[in-house]
Formats: sequence, C-alpha cells, structure tokens
Amino acid sequence: MKQKLKTSVIGSYPISINTQDLIKDYFAEQQTSWTKYINQAVHDMTSAGINYVSDGQTRDPFIQLFTRKLKGCRIRERTEIIGRVEYQDPITVPDQIYTKRLLPRHVGLIGVLTGPYTLMKSSVDSFYHDEKELAFDFATALRKEAELLLKHVDLISIDEPVFSNELPQYANELIQKITNGLSRPTRLHVCGDVSRIIPQLVDMPVDILSHEFKASPHLFDVFQDYPCRKNMCVGAVRSDDVIVESVEEIVTHVKKAIAIFDTNVVQIAPDCGQRLLPRDIAFQKLKNLAAAGEILNGG
Ligand SMILES: [Zn+2]
Repeated sequence: MKQKLKTSVIGSYPISINTQDLIKDYFAEQQTSWTKYINQAVHDMTSAGINYVSDGQTRDPFIQLFTRKLKGCRIRERTEIIGRVEYQDPITVPDQIYTKRLLPRHVGLIGVLTGPYTLMKSSVDSFYHDEKELAFDFATALRKEAELLLKHVDLISIDEPVFSNELPQYANELIQKITNGLSRPTRLHVCGDVSRIIPQLVDMPVDILSHEFKASPHLFDVFQDYPCRKNMCVGAVRSDDVIVESVEEIVTHVKKAIAIFDTNVVQIAPDCGQRLLPRDIAFQKLKNLAAAGEILNGG
C-alpha cells in the first residue's frame, strides 16, 4: 500500500511578542512565561492542518536555545566555549512535554535538535582549539537530550544548516553519535544548496532527508544522479519569500518530487524554519501546504 504523505514543519515559527508583557514581567522580576508563545505557534500549525508540528522554537534563537543550557558554554554576543561541553539538564524537553499536551491525538510532535557541527561552527572556541573534539562533545550532549525526548516526541529532527557550506569528513560518524539505535524515526535537515554534498547525504545515518527543494529546484536533477533509498521531506513552500504559493503550485512541485523519489516522499514541509516570515504569511503557507497534502493523498 502506498505510504501516506504527511505534512510537517522544520522548526521555528514567527510569533507576536507582546513587548508590554515583557516589560511588565521585567519589573515584576518574573520570568516571562513562554508558554503563551508556544500556544500561538502550535495553534497556527494545528489549525492549518499540519500532521507533524514543533513547539515553534519560540524561546531562543536555535544556537542559544542549546548552548544556554550546556556546561562549558557562555553566552555573550555569540556562544563562547570556556570549558568542556557537557550535558547538565534537559534543554528542550520541558517545552516538548508542554506542547504534546496541546496536541490532538492524531498530530505528531517533532523534537528539533540543532546539529553538533552547526553548534560548533557558531561558537567562539576559547577552550578546545580542536573543532572535531568540540563537535563530538556537542554530539554526546545532544544524544542525551535525544534519549530524553524519545518519550515525548514522534520524530527527532537534526538541523545542520552549516553542512551545505562545509561538510566535515567525519559528518556521518558525528550524526551517528546522536541517532544510533534511537527508537524513533530521525530526520536530517540541511538547507541551502546541498547539490555538492548529495553523495554524502544519501548515506547519512538517518531515516529522512530534508532539503529546500522549493528555493533550489535544481536539487531534483542532482538527486537523480545518485541512488537514494532514504525517505524524503520535500521543501514545498519557500521560507524566505512572502509570496504565498497556491495549492496547485505546491501539488505540481510535489508531483515532480514523487516522479523522482516515488513512495520515498513521506513528508512535505516549508523549505526551512519560518521564523522570518510575517505570522499571517507563514500561516497561509502552512494552510496551502496542508490542502495540497490532502489532494496528493487523494482526499
Ligand atoms: Zn533550514
């Protein structure tokens, strides 16, 4: 039987932050409650009809979200590495537990991890002076977070945007450190132009590959040159353009993907996180994505 196509997101979602609330919390010496921002993101994703949602990554930008909680990291303008990187407390787990409670039973939750290579490359290292060692210590910490996430999420997605600019020789081993033997499906999201690294990507130790096929449709042609048995999450609406793609345009685009990857197309999603789009545009794109998903599933 043909596997059903699912709609999903990559991670981040735009939210409307109420500055008045932030000021009020500041003067009351209260920690701002981020749950209302998770509520906004999850409300939009579920009412658009998306099958696999995230918490919207509203709490912090995707680097600090992790490095703020890891031992050995200090946040200045960027993350600074001042000691050995070690896992201390759950990082995203409390937000995932909260998000899961908001979801109808048929909606899946994605636990999103910023990849170890991207964390390493985005930090200023004053301790290791060895990129590989630092990247592997990030991976060891992320593995611990992934193990705790398993109980609460349906899919673990690793976000490694830096891979499209620079893929280290040890990339496969690094991702393996996180995904090895996990009891949930795993997805590797690499945005940007990945055409150069497709031969390596098709061998990555994950279940699903996720790339921005909408902004970079030439990726379809390059993928055709390499046998790919991986399941695919096909970027089908742009994350860097406010023009909302019509349902018909999305259907045509995904049919092109199906002609190449066949039943391995298991998810369709925006090209990347939607944080930089206006909220109403991000929502409309998700709505059209969900409508296209229904048509493609024969509904
Ligand atoms: Zn991305």
